[in-house]
Amino acid sequence: MPIYEYQCVKCDNEFEFLVFGSEKPECPSCSSKKTRRLMSACGFVSKGSGGETVSSSASDSSCSGCASTNCSSCGH
Ligand SMILES: [Zn+2]
Repeated sequence: MPIYEYQCVKCDNEFEFLVFGSEKPECPSCSSKKTRRLMSACGFVSKGSGGETVSSSASDSSCSGCASTNCSSCGH
């Protein structure tokens, strides 16, 4: 289960969020769901089973930050 770092667009609070599937993070400070993912977002390389790496950039469903239209990290 990947833990991602998010920043709240509304109050700039940074927090870590454990992502279950396509669940959306919610700011623990102001409960806003307008968040953006920090780190390399869509260029993020997730480890597959067996240790191989799978780039998630080819699949638009794997970046939960891109589900909104303001994923500033990757431009989606
Ligand atoms: Zn907030």
